[in-house]
Amino acid sequence: MFENLSSKLDKAFKTLKGQGRISDINVAATVKEIRKALVDADVNYKVAKTVTDKIRDEALGKEVLISVQPGQLLVKIVHEELTKLMGETKQDINIKGDPAIILIAGLQGSGKTTFSGKLANYLKKTGRNVLLVACDIYRPAAIDQLKVLGEQVGVEVYAEPENKNAVQIAKNAIQHAKNTNKKIVIVDTAGRLAIDEQMMREIAEVKKAIAPTETLFVVDSMTGQDAVNTAKTFNERLNFDGVVLTKLDGDSRGGAALSIRSVVEKPIKFISTGEKMEAIDLFYPDRMASRILGMGDVISLVEKAQQAFDEDEARRINQQIRKNQFNFDDFISQLEQIKKMGNIKDLVSMIPGVSKMMKDVEIDDDAFKPIEAIIRSMTKKERANPDMIDGSRRRRIAAGSGTSIQQVNNLMKQFGDMRKMMRSMSQMGSGKDALRKMK
Ligand code: GDP
Repeated sequence: MFENLSSKLDKAFKTLKGQGRISDINVAATVKEIRKALVDADVNYKVAKTVTDKIRDEALGKEVLISVQPGQLLVKIVHEELTKLMGETKQDINIKGDPAIILIAGLQGSGKTTFSGKLANYLKKTGRNVLLVACDIYRPAAIDQLKVLGEQVGVEVYAEPENKNAVQIAKNAIQHAKNTNKKIVIVDTAGRLAIDEQMMREIAEVKKAIAPTETLFVVDSMTGQDAVNTAKTFNERLNFDGVVLTKLDGDSRGGAALSIRSVVEKPIKFISTGEKMEAIDLFYPDRMASRILGMGDVISLVEKAQQAFDEDEARRINQQIRKNQFNFDDFISQLEQIKKMGNIKDLVSMIPGVSKMMKDVEIDDDAFKPIEAIIRSMTKKERANPDMIDGSRRRRIAAGSGTSIQQVNNLMKQFGDMRKMMRSMSQMGSGKDALRKMK
């Protein structure tokens, strides 16, 4: 996410020379570099200027302590200003009401339908009864797409494929929600490739008719300044409550994330970072600023892990390790859980300092494919008892998984090392007991 911007800012900080105080002279060039980095990332020019002026004013005259470099001090100031620019604090969506109604608007292709599915999944996990509504009267494929997503996340989808009146469908859907005791209704509307009057009129009518508790505008972050302009137009007509930025997993430059809030004066509430139903996050301005500055985002990483990891399974695996019986079944179960957490490269880049190192490294779910193929080519017995996998078994596994013996040997070696490490860690954990026995 935003690797280009991160590395340019990093370079800018390094240009800040001098000791003692940050002065007019030494800060000017750095601030200019920061502004250039922001503009290159497609941040609105006015926004970039205002924010860098603030950064300069904040930085001027600041004492530089012996223990910090002037560049580090500036990173802190930039972090604060970027956080403010993106809205300071997380803003929740309003899901009060019986049912609460969430209207989803945006251009075609922005990721509206995908997001509707994700939001339904997210809210369902918090224990709420959700209904998805397909209100696209132009593209039958959109209805099918929502139905597939609904099925995937286990949420009912309301649709009337023959009805060409979006307002009517939305109203009927809400009645249906009341009849079936749904607490949240998510209405996915039609989008066009560009803003047109008919579309705007239609969605404004839907909004008026169903009086949503929350209207979310979905926009593709890869479109940069266009995203900001589209947001402005939608806001003038719809007066939406919040923005959803999608496709932040791609090489989006950051302009939309940084400028939308101050140009449109509406908060970003969610971000979407992939096509999987789990790739949805609340938007925390301070965490985003940390990620932009390559400081990592350990908090989000931990939260993702908490969501994806199954507690009971974690306990079981812990037992396996303690008993020194960690096997390939456990290994593959761990891999599955890691994959559920989303795009691997994005996850790794949340670790402080790592995003810079990872800039040119390509890793994705495919990286696990040979490992999975090898493990799946083992018999049940072999998976449970890795020690029995001898030379001839390795040859058979390599042939069965379409990999080489070398790859199988590598995996066996790594797995062996991992077990050794796990064993010594679990022994360290029981060190107290060992000491007690010695006394
Ligand atoms: P809609 O026309 O606005 O409903 O857009 P869709 O939900 O159909 O999404 C358009 C395309 O973008 C689809 O291929 C989605 O899989 C993809 N997409 C949606 N959200 C994301 C995201 O956060 N990241 C990536 N990489 N792709 C996304």
